[in-house]
Amino acid sequence: MVEDEERLAAALRRGLQAEGFAVDIAGDGQDGLEMARHGGYDAMILDVMLPRLSGYRVVRQLRAERHWLPVLMLSAKDGEYDQADGLDCGADDYLTKPFSYVVLLARLRALLRRGSRERPVVLAHGDVELDPAERRVLVGGSEVALTAREFALLEYLIRHPGQVVSKTELLDHVWDAALETAPNAVEVYVGYLRRKIGRERLETVRGAGYRLAALPTS
Ligand code: CA
Repeated sequence: MVEDEERLAAALRRGLQAEGFAVDIAGDGQDGLEMARHGGYDAMILDVMLPRLSGYRVVRQLRAERHWLPVLMLSAKDGEYDQADGLDCGADDYLTKPFSYVVLLARLRALLRRGSRERPVVLAHGDVELDPAERRVLVGGSEVALTAREFALLEYLIRHPGQVVSKTELLDHVWDAALETAPNAVEVYVGYLRRKIGRERLETVRGAGYRLAALPTS
């Protein structure tokens, strides 16, 4: 648990210990980050407002280093925007202070059931990297500007790495079903995307669809 409010941290620790959890407390973000890197923990309860390093930066740094322990963020803020920030940084769930202890326990148990499988914030396939939160795409290390539709198309393909994705599937997921879509919309946008990311990175599989190719990172 990374929490600088000592009384809250102590009270939560007592409660969690009574439920059979073993709990260590870090009083600032930097210590929390160090402990998460080396401690072999099953989950992290992480305050947002912390001395030295904010909770957002702690979780972003952990994910960048490919540590996947489940993270439940705590914050006194209650704007939707802050919640989105926390989740976009790589947190798995979010509670706003003051919260119910029973809800905290339930959320923590749910996170522990899901475990520490890999769930990167930045998606990568070969030398293409896509950051859904920052809306950024890097190809071979250089930033490429995409329109919203091109971005959505690439995001869908990179979420299905190495798979052949059919035109119908792309139409269903990338285009709004309520809008009239030209029958060749997928071909047209695949063409735009190829021009921007390089023809060799987006293969046509005849009669089946499209596949994002993994070119080696240089
Ligand atoms: Ca705090």
